[in-house]
Order: sequence, then C-alpha cells, then structure tokens
Amino acid sequence: MTSTPTFPAGSVLGYPRIGPRRELKKAIESFWAGRSTADEVEAVAADLRRRTRTRLAELGLRTDVPAIPSAFSFYDHVLDASAVVGAVPARFADLVDENGRLDLAGYSTVARGRGDDLPLEMTKWFDTNYHYLVPEIGPDTAFRYASDRPVREFTEALADGVLTRPVIVGPVTYLALAKAAEGSPEGFAPIDRLQDLLPVYAELLRDLKAAGATWVQLDEPALVSDSIEVPADQLLAAVVEAYRALATDLTDRPAIFVAAPYGDLGAALPVLASTDVEAIGIDLVRGHAPAETVPGLETKTLVAGVIDGHNIWRADLDAKLQILEQLEGLGAAAVTVGTSTSLFHVPHDTADEPNLDATLKSWLAFADQKTLEIVTLAEGLTEGREAIHEELLAATDAVNSRKTAPGVVRPEVRARAAALTEDAFNRGTWESRKEQQAKRLDLPPLPTTTIGSFPQTTEIRVARAAFGRGELTAEQYEDEMKAEIRRVVELQEKIGLDVLVHGEPERNDMVQYFAENLDGFAVTQNGWVQSYGSRCTRPSILWGDVSRPAPITVAWTSYTQSLTEKHVKGMLTGPVTILAWSFVRDDQPLGDTANQVGLALRDEIADLEAAGIAIIQVDEPALRELLPLREEDHAAYLDWSVRSFRLATAGVRDDTQIHTHLCYSEFGEIIGAIDGLDADVTSIEAARSKMEILGDINAAGYPRAVGPGVYDIHSPRVPSEGEVEELLTEAVKAIAVDQLWVNPDCGLKTRRYEEVAPSLEHIIEATKAVRATL
Ligand code: GLN
Ligand code: ZN
Repeated sequence: MTSTPTFPAGSVLGYPRIGPRRELKKAIESFWAGRSTADEVEAVAADLRRRTRTRLAELGLRTDVPAIPSAFSFYDHVLDASAVVGAVPARFADLVDENGRLDLAGYSTVARGRGDDLPLEMTKWFDTNYHYLVPEIGPDTAFRYASDRPVREFTEALADGVLTRPVIVGPVTYLALAKAAEGSPEGFAPIDRLQDLLPVYAELLRDLKAAGATWVQLDEPALVSDSIEVPADQLLAAVVEAYRALATDLTDRPAIFVAAPYGDLGAALPVLASTDVEAIGIDLVRGHAPAETVPGLETKTLVAGVIDGHNIWRADLDAKLQILEQLEGLGAAAVTVGTSTSLFHVPHDTADEPNLDATLKSWLAFADQKTLEIVTLAEGLTEGREAIHEELLAATDAVNSRKTAPGVVRPEVRARAAALTEDAFNRGTWESRKEQQAKRLDLPPLPTTTIGSFPQTTEIRVARAAFGRGELTAEQYEDEMKAEIRRVVELQEKIGLDVLVHGEPERNDMVQYFAENLDGFAVTQNGWVQSYGSRCTRPSILWGDVSRPAPITVAWTSYTQSLTEKHVKGMLTGPVTILAWSFVRDDQPLGDTANQVGLALRDEIADLEAAGIAIIQVDEPALRELLPLREEDHAAYLDWSVRSFRLATAGVRDDTQIHTHLCYSEFGEIIGAIDGLDADVTSIEAARSKMEILGDINAAGYPRAVGPGVYDIHSPRVPSEGEVEELLTEAVKAIAVDQLWVNPDCGLKTRRYEEVAPSLEHIIEATKAVRATL
C-alpha cells in the first residue's frame, strides 16, 4: 500500500480567476468579438495562471506540496466539468471533435448560445451572486473523458516548478446540479447516471496521477444544501457510491480532498468520513465543527475552512487559532488550515485600493490578505502560537479598531431602531388600500409599465465616466441625465404606457448607486468579482451603521413627474438586495443591518410620497438568492428579510401604491414570504415559463396584484404582438383581471433601443387587444 502524500498545512480552496485588471474578461470578450485568436486568449490565460502561482507562492503558500490550487476557468467551472466528461447537449453536437472535445470557440458557444440554440441555462451558485451553467444530462448522455485540460494546466504549473492541486466539481455535486436533458422520460434524474459518470472521473484521476499530481480537490458543495432536487438520503447514498468507487488504491490516483464549501456538512460528514477519501474540507465560517469525534476521521486530514472566502473582513486570528487547536481534539490524522470557500468571491488585493480610507482598509482582507492569514495560521498551528505572536496582536488590534471606530456604531441609528414599534411594519388593510389606490391612480384594466431601467446607452456611460474623471461638472452631468430622462419619458408617452419610469440613467448599478449615497458604505475601485462568464460586479462594502444623509432619488423622480400627466413610478432597491450584493459587516445580525437600510429607505419613500409620487417600486431581486441552504434556517431568514422590506415600505398612506420586483420565476417556492412583503403589486419573470406560475399564485389565494413578465429581456429577440397577446390571454384565464399588470420580465438596461421600442409597442397593442375582450 502506498502511503498518503503530504497535504500542506495551509492552503486556499481557489483564487480569483478573472485577473486583477479583469485581463481574462478583456481577452475573452475580444476573442468573441473576433478581434483576437484562440491562441492569443490562451496566452493571456497562461500568463494569468503563472502570475497567480507566483503571487500565491510569494505570499507564502508552498510549491513543493500542493497548497496552490489549479482552478482556472475561461467561463465557468461547472461548464468545465461538462467539457471534461463530454456532456455537451445534442444541439451543440457539431461543435465537438471526434474525441468529444470542444475548442475554445465551441466552449464559448455552449456558454452563450447561437441563433435558436439556447445556451446552457444559467443559475445561482449556492447562496452566492455567482452563476453557473446548468449541465443537461439525459439517459443517453454519452459520458467520456473528453478534455484533459485539468491535466494540461497541472503540467504547465509543474513545468514552472509548482506542484498544484487540480480542482474539479465533484461527481455528486455535478449531477445534483444538472437538469434532465430535454426529452428525458418522466421520473429520470441526472443523479441516476452516477455509475456511468464515475469511470470518467476515475480516468481523469489516473491521468492526473500519471502527470505527477499528488492531490486532487473535488468540490462537493451540494452536500451542504437542502435546496437541491436530489432527496437527502439519495444524495448520501450517492456520496458513498462515488467515493467508494473513486477512492481505490493510491497507486492509480492522487489522494482525494473533498471540499464542502458554503455551509454545514451535517449528516454528510460522517458519511464522507466513512469512505476512503484522504481529506475533507469543512466550512467553519457558515458551518460548525463536529461536537465529537467522527468515526473514520482518524485516517483523514481535516482541512479547516476558518478563513471566510465569501466576505472581505480581516479575521480575528486568535479566535481562529483557538478553533484550530480545538479541532485537534477530534482525532483526525491531521488538521490543516483552509478557506471556507474558494476566494473567487472576493477581489484580489486591498493594496489595489488607493482611494479607500486607510482605517477601513486596515480592517479588510481580500484574496491576497486572506492567503497571508492562511499562511500565518498554518505556521501557528505547526510551530505554536508564539511563532505568530506579532501577527496575532496585529489582527486583534484591527478587530478592536473596527469595534470602536467612529461610524461603526452610531447611537442615533441604534436608538431609532430600538424605538420601533410593531406599527412601523404594518400598512392599512389590503381592501382599503385597493379601493383608495384605484381612486387615486385611475388606471385602465391591465395597466402597463416597465421594471425601471431603459437602455444604458454609450452616451450615458461616456457622460458618467467623464463626470467621474472630473471632465464634466455636476451641473453638466445633471443636464445630460435630464435630457436622457426627457427622451425616455417621450418614448413611453408615444408608445402609450400607463405608468412611466425615469429610466435610471444616473445609476451605474442598482446597489452601488445607493451605497454611494448612504452613510455606512464604501465603494472600491478595482474590487471586481466574477458574477458569470466574463461579467463582473464591484460589490460595495457595508462597514458601519447606515443612514441617509440627504434625499437620493427625489429630485430625479420629481423632475420626471414634472414632464408628464401620467403617474411616474419612484424606483428604489430594497434592503435585502442591497445587503446581498454588497460585502456586509459580520459583527451584528444581518437582520439588524437590514433594518438600518430599511429605515433609510423609509425616509426616502416618505420624501417621494411628500413630493406627490403615487407609486413607488422597491426592487428585491435577491430575496430568493439569500435564502439559506439549510431548511432549518429558512424561517429566521424570511422573517428578518420580510420585516426589513415592510419597515422600508409600511410608512406610506393607503393610497400610495408600493410595487416590488423579483427577477426570478420561483415565486411558488417562497410564496408565503412574498405574501409577507405585502406589496400592492409584484412583478416577476414569467415569459419563458409561459405564465405557468400564475396558476400557483391563484391556487394559493394570493390576493394582491402581480405583473408577470410578458417580454423576456434576457434575449435580444423582439416578441411579436401575437405572442404577447397569447401570454396575456393565458394570464387572464389564470388569475382575476384586476390582479394583473402588464410589464417586461426585468429592467431594460442591457437591451438596445432597436429591440426595446418595438417590443414595448407590441406589448401595448397586445394589451389593447386583450382589454377589448374583457
Ligand atoms: N429597477 C431595476 C431595473 O429595471 C431592477 C433590476 C433587477 O431586477 N435586477 O433595472
Ligand atoms: Zn429583474
């Protein structure tokens, strides 16, 4: 029997792959645009991988044992797994060569679609703001070891003198996240194909071993979630089956490290421990350490994910070291230090933020700082805490500085929240609101509106950038935005929409815009994180108590209202979404932070109402995204999230109409919470699912109004009048006419006017036609 190779005392589960200056984004987008060749993109990627390795080694990760992950991706790591196992949907069969392999162009096409061939569906990666491409697996998907990219990238690093640890989505999670390919028989589930998939993983492992890999990391986050479709007992059975099959004699494979980021392994930990894998990674930020020894752990390395891979705060190293010391009592063969998740959810380096306040910066750890924390803790663990005495003190100082710094705790904000009574969360009855709003608003049946944004044109972006650089004065910038608002209003009037919007030209992003205008937030310059494919966002940092120093949207909204006789809808982002798309403070319950944001929005809403705005929309597209992975945590989350929305909106009069917008279509899943929001009108995505959701809403007895999207704005396609009419005809059959609004699926900011104008025209014509039948 071969003995287990050494696992490094400190290691990270993954690292940002887009590049400190979004080099990969630029390279791949230029390839898509036909401005560069695949070889050129490959060269940029290889350079980026080399720089990552060099950087991580510089920071202190070892290169002689596999501390540095080999976890690159051109677009998405789940798509990469599909490429490795040859699971390319039939509609793209022409893109693979005789070995089942996709080249970079083919890979990009599967990710992005072509003509009528839709790309793989994109969906949220656990409770993060990253999106992966959903594999499509059917009974006859022919798995084969199609791409040896992980092996090539390992070899490339080794040639550079760095022994890396290849990272691949584990087989159980891969199938658990997949959806049944079109045409699969009733009752078929991708996980049924586990037996057929495992030999491909085994082949990959053999190949990695032959190339010299000592360890491989298989990510199995599905094991921490109750929200995936595979029933829990079946999932655990799959774990046993998969890792019995893969964890064979070490002569044929690298040692296996199964990582379970994003939450608590729960019942899956003893099951994993009962298999022959060599290391298990647990998330000790979201999850907790087992209370007592787990049978089987004595032969395994426990990779303790104590450093938060998903947030940007510097760690209390002393507290983390204590956790690590306690874990040693569990009797694992070894305890090593890791991150809770891959670091690709955080930006590269705080040193890249010259404009950030120095004190705030001293509290932060981006990927590079987190790597240093790992290295420090690993040293503390192996050499004793004395060896890292200085670092422990410095970390404690930072933690204390954060506790006492001005702005973190503001007594007036705390006092206001503490004084809230239940009244602040409740509006008048729906009956009274319905009647008074109908009187005040005087809208036709099936009122038409949009979700808020209109296309962000090049002119708008150019003006914003020039304003940012100081080349436009505030006044000039305001004039340009007002001109844009006038155009948007004119267009809406010409097309004949009933409730108008200002189009959001002044907003760079629906969260950052509010973060820039509220106290308690900071924004970064280079803090990009991947959202999907080449798309990145720059989350704001919510570091202190939140309040609103001055009205934010009132002047823009009032100006818009002054241009038209129609009602203009005020447009705000809700507390849960502001939290979800920012890095949030971790020193108080999320619910408390959400209520502070809720109160700031409540003031904004009061000012909009006082300015005569009759309809106010508060967007909460992230409500579903933050839903905890474990069912036992759902109730508490839904309680605080719903309450923060109510706190923001419940101060209005009965005749002021509150709208909300939830991007997704999984309305049914959290219908209780949506009911709890108590919004008068809720718009949702429905075009692609052909209004199916309305039946559920009706069956649940949901009393208030809904605006099921009739125009799929995720595609450049212009829906025909007939198509929209058909959807609306379905809608009026499924739900009472006085509960229905007509609107697109989501905001129009990513579309072009050439698509938006005719689409909205068709929506208006279709609405007229359906109104005539009522
Ligand atoms: N009001 C926003 C917009 O129209 C909503 C965007 C969203 O739901 N993501 O752009
Ligand atoms: Zn949306």
